[in-house]
Amino acid sequence: MTPLERALRERIAAEGPIGIEAYMEACNAYYYATRDPFGARGDFITAPEISQMFGEMIGAALADCWKRAGTPDNAIYAELGPGRGTLAADALRMMRAAGFSGEVHFVETSPIMRKMQKELVPEARWHESIDDLPARPLLLVANEFLDALPIRQHVGEIERRVTVAAGGLAFDRDGEIVETSPARDEAISSIATCLAAMGGAALFIDYGHARSGPGDTLQAVRGHVYAALLADPGEQDLTSHVDFEAAGAAARDAGAAVTLLVTQGEWLIRLGIEARAQALSRANPEKAADVEAALERLTSRDQMGELFKVLAIHAPDWPVPAGFE
Ligand code: SAH
Repeated sequence: MTPLERALRERIAAEGPIGIEAYMEACNAYYYATRDPFGARGDFITAPEISQMFGEMIGAALADCWKRAGTPDNAIYAELGPGRGTLAADALRMMRAAGFSGEVHFVETSPIMRKMQKELVPEARWHESIDDLPARPLLLVANEFLDALPIRQHVGEIERRVTVAAGGLAFDRDGEIVETSPARDEAISSIATCLAAMGGAALFIDYGHARSGPGDTLQAVRGHVYAALLADPGEQDLTSHVDFEAAGAAARDAGAAVTLLVTQGEWLIRLGIEARAQALSRANPEKAADVEAALERLTSRDQMGELFKVLAIHAPDWPVPAGFE
């Protein structure tokens, strides 16, 4: 039994069944605080770890938006859940080349992740929570951050919970599931409030769906394969699909403008990833096959290109970031 499973069983024995939200929160806090989950030997790989082109396209898009907004010199680069810091390093290289010299602010709770981020982006400043970000125009990105925030599940009117049954952890009910995520709504609302007051733009990239609807999207991943949801709590990555309709509504309610939702593949191609791939291959012919494979993985429909989506929210008086129209 994992140390966290023992703690959860004790908690359930004392308090009764716990909601999916509390379960996910406990599992992910433990999971991210105790390991580097990325790469071939880890549990999953994310777009910035596949190729430098991903972060470069994001950096180019944020720099372009900042220029069209009149290069406000108090703007900051901000990132939520920066992982190893690879995306930030690649994006900032492009942004610095475009003349952006603003500060770098990371929202990250895991001490292990913070340490890795510091190696790649030594100038960053760290925050525990989104609400601690400075009140400045934001050039913000969050890749695979929203999916890690806890959700609630309901079957009809009743909240689905985790209990102990037949000697193991079990869900207390089944049926048609509707998911909500107050934590996600709150995160988006907080960013949107800052954008509306201070200016800026934020890019959210994640797997998810364009319209709200019933369905159970909670998933556990370990060693690059799906795992049983309640097995080995704290030892596998627990996520759910992002409801982008709910995300857009939370942003609008807080006063930000919301773009159309585009697929990651379409968005990267509109931003010019194919030309970037050609340039990289020409400069390093021995890497051409790797670059081609990475391009395919990031953009093609049967890989990350269609499941992953991109939504931008921005200050109403800021330009719409590139790639959404
Ligand atoms: N964006 C990175 C990492 C995605 S994994 C990439 O694309 O590779 C999720 C990241 O969010 C990790 O860095 C994790 O430590 C962080 N994280 C998870 N929950 C968080 C929370 N509630 N607050 C801040 N960071 C969180």
